[in-house]
Amino acid sequence: MTAYIGLGANMGNPLDQLQQAIDACSALPSTAITQLSGVYQSPPMGPQDQPDFYNACAALETHLTAHQLLTELQGIERTMGRIKRRHWGERCIDLDLLLYGELVHDCATLTLPHPGLKDRDFVLMPLLDLLEGSVSIGGFGSLDTLIGQCTASTCVKLPHRLLSPLNDLGQRHV
Ligand code: AMP
Repeated sequence: MTAYIGLGANMGNPLDQLQQAIDACSALPSTAITQLSGVYQSPPMGPQDQPDFYNACAALETHLTAHQLLTELQGIERTMGRIKRRHWGERCIDLDLLLYGELVHDCATLTLPHPGLKDRDFVLMPLLDLLEGSVSIGGFGSLDTLIGQCTASTCVKLPHRLLSPLNDLGQRHV
């Protein structure tokens, strides 16, 4: 199954933490990272007295179920020391499961497509690095339409690139 994840960080060294999370995702069982977006910077969505966020998206090929993948992503957040301080507050890493194939799902622990996806330019812009703009996102409409509906985008693409994940020999390919 192809899944898309969103990564965000705004504490410590955000670029390092995004890279660490990518490396951790590539080490998940039955999972491979197939595409990485660029890195985007944007002002915080919640409390303004916190640093800008750095965001990126990745495409994964996985044999994990959506629930198993979410559990693994939460495990990576915990291992990396994520502590929830306040709603929409600062975080060393945030991992969201944005899309899992075309699955539409809503239960207490998992909503797909991710409910925040449709109006967050800092998620839609990196996703557009990986998907055609004409691709329909669940029942929300096409990626292009959703981006067009985002008002006053303040999301900026940075020159930085995330490195491809480590292979079994500890080398980076591509
Ligand atoms: P957050 O603190 O914003 O990362 O939200 C985490 C909470 O959102 C957890 O309780 C998850 O179970 C829930 N959640 C629901 N759907 C998703 C999703 N698609 N991706 C990540 N977390 C989700």
